[in-house]
Amino acid sequence: MCSSDLILAACEITGAQAIHPGYGFLSENAQFVQAVEDHGITFIGPTAEHIRVMGDKITAKETMKALGVPCVPGSKGGVPDLATAQRLGEELGYPVIVKATAGGGGRGMKLARNAGEMESAFLTARSEGKAAFGNDEVYIEKYLTTPRHIEIQVFGDGKGGAVHLGERDCSLQRRHQKVLEEAPGPAISAEERARIGAICADAVAKINYAGAGTIEFLYENGEFYFIEMNTRLQVEHPVTEAVFGVDLVREQIRVAAGLPMSFTQEDLQINGHAIEVRINAERLPNFSPCPGRITQYHAPGGLGVRMDSALYDGYVIPPYYDSLIAKLIVHGRDRTEALARLDRALGELIVDGVDTTVPLFRALLGEPAVQTGDYNIHWLEHWLETQMAV
Ligand code: ADP
Repeated sequence: MCSSDLILAACEITGAQAIHPGYGFLSENAQFVQAVEDHGITFIGPTAEHIRVMGDKITAKETMKALGVPCVPGSKGGVPDLATAQRLGEELGYPVIVKATAGGGGRGMKLARNAGEMESAFLTARSEGKAAFGNDEVYIEKYLTTPRHIEIQVFGDGKGGAVHLGERDCSLQRRHQKVLEEAPGPAISAEERARIGAICADAVAKINYAGAGTIEFLYENGEFYFIEMNTRLQVEHPVTEAVFGVDLVREQIRVAAGLPMSFTQEDLQINGHAIEVRINAERLPNFSPCPGRITQYHAPGGLGVRMDSALYDGYVIPPYYDSLIAKLIVHGRDRTEALARLDRALGELIVDGVDTTVPLFRALLGEPAVQTGDYNIHWLEHWLETQMAV
């Protein structure tokens, strides 16, 4: 039996009425959600159909475009062959990025800086898509050179009502994977937030979206460009919870139970600033996974400090999964206070027995660009290169 069958069997045996999928594995698996729906069990999240539409990046982009959401210029749908890819490269102007429509987690994306790189980018994105996701369809987008990653948290009641909970800035990335996230975004004004937030809330309201969702954008020169929608709660959702003072999981359960959302757009006001760092069991400087036994664990605490983790003394980190072992979230009256609190909390944290990314964050906190929030999605990679060169 596969894991979804076992979960459905567990529901039957225990009489569970609903399933909350977390944010991994099965949370964006339309087939699983369909099976849950077919068994008359409530899936705490959107419908299988919404997950299907947004899980295919080409369909997602077309749907969002039709709903009035601004998108990255690119191919109209899938790109069938290399000749078409080359023609599009010329039309859009290099650099361009070739993306697997089924891709995720930063995989299945290849950059072509010029015509000479197109063949390898096209073929590699296709084969990565096939190998990792069983689908070799790819599409092409203009590659934005210095954008920030800004994502809008939305929440729908499934009946045509929806709100937005502002943005998260997730520009500090390594290999297209988020490393640190914050809310509100240091580069986003209240007017921009209200404008793009309203576009997103309106889009999900129009499709009767239910529950939490994130609409991801690249942001460059004051413009937002849609890249994808995640139809689930995200790893970085606690920064939004901190600044809005809401429990998104409670809200998901309310909506799944047929209750109305407990807030309106007017109720949702930002209070202070929150930052999350992803603590991975990885060995620096190469970020190689570092599973093993935790010999000593001590979590930081105090006002404005939240540690989301399942660690304890003696816990053994298995080698089979993602290396994320803890999320440290801090909240302060403003960004300066949040950064100071993060530094203090990282200093209190003890995780012995395995290597972690904690030293990376301590070093980053000393960087002027991090202190001012002045970075784009490439900043961290460049910074890591210069650190290694020292
Ligand atoms: P995934 O589903 O694998 O997370 P996304 O489409 O969300 O893929 O993109 C992940 C990251 O890749 C973005 O945050 C950004 O850093 C980079 N990226 C994606 N599309 C573009 C683009 N058109 N131009 C520049 N960078 C991009």
